[in-house]
Amino acid sequence: MAILYLLHFEPPLRHARHYLGYTADSRRRLQQHLSGHGSPLVRAALAAGCTVTLVRTWPNGTRTLERKLKNRKHGPRLCPICNPRHA
Ligand SMILES: [Zn+2]
Repeated sequence: MAILYLLHFEPPLRHARHYLGYTADSRRRLQQHLSGHGSPLVRAALAAGCTVTLVRTWPNGTRTLERKLKNRKHGPRLCPICNPRHA
């Protein structure tokens, strides 16, 4: 029961505005991120004063889907904040 999730940074951290992750325990993983124990990118965003928001999840996520979404680099298109019409 893993999910994929998309975090949105406001304001963006340099070129990074999103973080796409994969987890079997989204609530715990999100707490790790927000307390600075998740990915280095999210930690850097928090340290820079960005607000990090969980904007989207895909239930029944797989590593394959994660790789596919990451390769497409379509964070802004997948994000309901950046792209409310097409999310
Ligand atoms: Zn966004």
